[in-house]
Amino acid sequence: MTENLDFYKDEVFRCMRCGLCLPSCPVYSEEKIESMGPRGRLSLIESYVSRKFKLSKIYKDRIKKCLECKSCFFECPSGIKIDEIIHLSKEDIFYNEGFRIFPNILKSIIKKRSTLSLSFEMLKILNIPNRVFHNKIDPNRFFYNFLILNPLEPKKGFPTKDKRSSSKENKKIFKAKKSQGKVIFYRGCLINYIYKDIEKASIDVLNRLGFDVVLVKDEICCGAPLYSYGDRKGFKEIAEINIKLFKLYDEAPVISSCPTCTVTLKNYYKELFPDNKLSPSVWDINEFIMKYPDIDFRGFSEEKRITYHDPCHLKRSLGIHKEPRLFLKSIPNANFIEMKDSDRCCGFAGLFSFFYHDLARKIALKKLDNIKDSKADTVITSCPGCMMHIQRTLIRENSPIEVKHIVEILREANIYV
Ligand code: SF4
Ligand code: SF4
Repeated sequence: MTENLDFYKDEVFRCMRCGLCLPSCPVYSEEKIESMGPRGRLSLIESYVSRKFKLSKIYKDRIKKCLECKSCFFECPSGIKIDEIIHLSKEDIFYNEGFRIFPNILKSIIKKRSTLSLSFEMLKILNIPNRVFHNKIDPNRFFYNFLILNPLEPKKGFPTKDKRSSSKENKKIFKAKKSQGKVIFYRGCLINYIYKDIEKASIDVLNRLGFDVVLVKDEICCGAPLYSYGDRKGFKEIAEINIKLFKLYDEAPVISSCPTCTVTLKNYYKELFPDNKLSPSVWDINEFIMKYPDIDFRGFSEEKRITYHDPCHLKRSLGIHKEPRLFLKSIPNANFIEMKDSDRCCGFAGLFSFFYHDLARKIALKKLDNIKDSKADTVITSCPGCMMHIQRTLIRENSPIEVKHIVEILREANIYV
């Protein structure tokens, strides 16, 4: 057993078996199996740390099927950091399983910009039949995962044609009309390779607030997939590369429109490298915009019924949930409707939805019911991962409901200061 998990031994024994955490767990709610819920998982970990059994197939399955959504932690009267303990169990499993091909391939892909770009291009090609035959593809098949990666997206890659951008260096600058300073925009993989519109909208909104926006050409993945896989060593390597890369730009705040990237750069990097300069300068875009109380909106051209889905990493890891609602409620012509269980995980959780797509889809269908019940015509969120998962489920269900990132909405509502 790894030292880190051993360290949490006493914490595991604090569980009173009250079961208050169970209804909050999206996986337990679908599977109705005790060992698939927080209490059951803790009980398995308790037996494992007491050396009552060694790593077994069923133990590994139950631990890996945790979304790390943190919902259980907020319900537990004993304040047990259930998700953190489960995460350490994932690391322990990874460590004890020895050499693994998948995370090693994953690491070599995500640590270089060239291989990362190539693999996303390949994924987009895989997606062509999905987009054409989306209704006929069994959602339980692995390839269903790629539905939404748009191979026909004309404006992909680094935005080289923008006249405001210049320089041959490892960065591009998008200048504001009246500049009051500079920020760095960390795109992350999903925004960089799939949702280019979020990148453009983020740059546009930051420019309108009066900030020149810097993009780092060699930016690589933040390493979140390796972190969630439990590959601590591989994750550390990626973190080191990014910390070094962003040292070059440490004079400006780093803004992200992906809460998974934000929590990774801000919290997980800090756990590994407490003195690194990158983590304290990272901001989620909602939080950053909120610093400017003078913002206003011209509004939508016609009335829109909108609702909002809280990404787990944004609400429960970073505590950001009031800010997007304040923006949305103050847009003229926006009819904001709060959906039921708006902060319940959509089932994406990065690699979780790739490995357990059937379960991830079942969880997303619950989210869809709540979106539909709200009668909104647009569901807004602040995470490209949630967007992808909700969007592909809506497409599959032939729903006309649109999914947008909050920055796309702020731009559409003509934010100004
Ligand atoms: S973190 Fe989420 S998925 Fe994991 S046990 Fe807790 S509620 Fe369930
Ligand atoms: S709420 Fe906390 S104490 Fe109660 S069963 Fe769940 S983990 Fe144990």
